[in-house]
Amino acid sequence: MSELFNVADIFGENVFDDATMQERLPKKVYKDLKKMIEEGKELDLATADVIAHEMKEWAIEKGATHYTHWFQPLTGVTAEKHDSFISAPMETGKVLMSFSGKELIKGEPDASSFPSGGLRATFEARGYTAWDCTSPAFVRKDAAGATLCIPTAFCSYTGEALDQKTPLLRSMEAINEQSLRLIRLFGNTRAKKVTPSVGPEQEYFLVDAKKFLERKDLIYTGRTLFGAMPPKGQELDDHYFGTIRQRIASFMKDVNEELWKMGVTSKTQHNEVAPAQHELAPIYAKANVAVDHNQLVMQTLKRIASEHGMKCLLHEKPFAGVNGSGKHNNWSLTTDEGKNLLDPGETPHENIQFLLVLTCILKAVDEHAALLRESAADPGNDHRLGANEAPPAIISVFLGEQLEDVLEQLVTTGEATHSLNTGKLETGVRTLPELAKDTSDRNRTSPFAFTGNKFEFRMVGSRDSVAGSNIVLNTIVADAFSQACDVLEKADDFEKAVHDLIKQYATEHYRIVFNGNGYSDEWVKEAERRGLPNIRSMVDAIPALVTEETISLFEKFHVFTRAELESRAEIKYENYAKAINIEARTMIDMASKQIIPAIIKYTRSLADTVNSVREAGVDPQVQADLLKEITVLLGQTKEALDVLKKVTEEAAAMEEGERQARYYHDSVFPAMEELRRPVDELEMIVDKEAWPMPSYGDLLFEV
Ligand code: ADP
Ligand code: MG
Repeated sequence: MSELFNVADIFGENVFDDATMQERLPKKVYKDLKKMIEEGKELDLATADVIAHEMKEWAIEKGATHYTHWFQPLTGVTAEKHDSFISAPMETGKVLMSFSGKELIKGEPDASSFPSGGLRATFEARGYTAWDCTSPAFVRKDAAGATLCIPTAFCSYTGEALDQKTPLLRSMEAINEQSLRLIRLFGNTRAKKVTPSVGPEQEYFLVDAKKFLERKDLIYTGRTLFGAMPPKGQELDDHYFGTIRQRIASFMKDVNEELWKMGVTSKTQHNEVAPAQHELAPIYAKANVAVDHNQLVMQTLKRIASEHGMKCLLHEKPFAGVNGSGKHNNWSLTTDEGKNLLDPGETPHENIQFLLVLTCILKAVDEHAALLRESAADPGNDHRLGANEAPPAIISVFLGEQLEDVLEQLVTTGEATHSLNTGKLETGVRTLPELAKDTSDRNRTSPFAFTGNKFEFRMVGSRDSVAGSNIVLNTIVADAFSQACDVLEKADDFEKAVHDLIKQYATEHYRIVFNGNGYSDEWVKEAERRGLPNIRSMVDAIPALVTEETISLFEKFHVFTRAELESRAEIKYENYAKAINIEARTMIDMASKQIIPAIIKYTRSLADTVNSVREAGVDPQVQADLLKEITVLLGQTKEALDVLKKVTEEAAAMEEGERQARYYHDSVFPAMEELRRPVDELEMIVDKEAWPMPSYGDLLFEV
């Protein structure tokens, strides 16, 4: 067993956090930086120089040789370019270690190879990275040694966002402004800032590294493209919350240690529903920090898994037939005084503000359901959403019995006069009962569930950044708040106006509330009757990004320009097409070079057996039948392979864009399924010794 340690001693030791800054920076510089962090004031170069110098000294003490602007281009993963601290050698031949304020604040990577969706002409390949000083710098230690990582935003020469962080920060600004307006109406003049809090729960699979390396599909695409179900799947539910095996436990221990040192509040770990599936949840943090930390979580899971002879699969659906992985995005709004706007509160006064916040969120989610759905779209997630798995592709809101009942009374009679748990209420809507923080809400089928004092958006894919969904959440709720404030700020009788508005929103958007089983066929029909969108695939989801409604929403709050949205839609179509193209080609490769040859070899030995059994004077009926069965399936495999080759070539020859992405979805993807079917049947009847790769059973149960 590796050494034990005291968490408090190591937590944040590799973070240039507030305590470190306070300790190391001159008072005035620290104050200026704090102002910049809290109020968004600009930092002058002289101050930046001092910060950079101290940051460098600190990082070098931690063993750092390099620094990097750590950013999140639209590839879904983070990017970094490392520069060492050394400067040109002096005459003595010695080098100095230097790091200037300019280098801290701004970087200039060659951006030509990052997706820009046409935003950046190739002759102007410059991109800029700019320090996000609200997310602390940290030192990361790995095989490359120690590196000072500076969280940054990434923009084009002309200021257009080329990353996830820039729009996220803009959306945080929008929700801050509109939330402040709203709480001012309720007499809160003290709070200076409202920040979205985010806690993403990360699901993942662990498989043995040696077996992983024997599967080209896992190597190239992160998921299995062939594979018959083992005799045992997840039907016994014996893995969920089960005892964590020693190999996994020792992996988790190292993951936690690494994360804690980098200031990531890794909190909860447990086995998930599927065999070999696990979950890690941190304590929630400010949205931009949570997004950065989630990237660190994903990277650390992968790195530590490799050190333990395993591979961490972050794909949304590594195995057909067992549960896939997602990322529950817990979201709430917190004032700088620590009040949560999604907390129902204890006094009528807080209750009514809560009801307004709640109904604004219902309105936001109902009006922008397609956009919210889009924010969770990635190629891997198509296997979960709308594929009879958690959660469905239809957006609805789960409120729980008590809240739903209060809203229903509001809608039907205009006043809520009683509550399910606490009996009679006295003065209508103003006295929402104190809500029991019902941790028993485990309606896991709802994509957007109220869980006591936060909403949990459960659609996000396990491999995806949580930036996208939080950008949308922040912006659509900011819009609803802004519309409500427009009405209420003008009202003569505030009490009456707010009552009417809550009732109006509850009535108009009640259709989005659904507490039942989201997996049932009845819900699909019911949702259709209610007019709720059911968007089953990424290619069908992308158009929501560029509707006139979406564009004017994002432009209103300066989160995205039209050009930025159009470029993002283009990038998404490209990403989809590329992902399916790689999968199709991997299948073609595996079928042609591994599976078909293995079966041909096996049929030859079967044929030999048939002959020798016959020579021995026995009727080789069983052997001959098996040979026939396998030969028929082999024929189907070859036929399906030829079709897949043809449609993949056709797709690849098309011009990039929506039409191509649709072709991949409509023609290539089904051809992949057609190839998989006979191969999986063959796997069930061919000698295991003859099968050219580890099976599902080997991967899932022998970690
Ligand atoms: P579970 O849903 O698995 O039962 P919890 O609901 O307790 O677990 O927490 C899941 C995640 O939600 C954690 O990351 C937690 O920090 C986060 N969380 C808890 N409260 C809030 C909140 N008010 N706002 C945002 N995230 C929160
Ligand atoms: Mg949860």
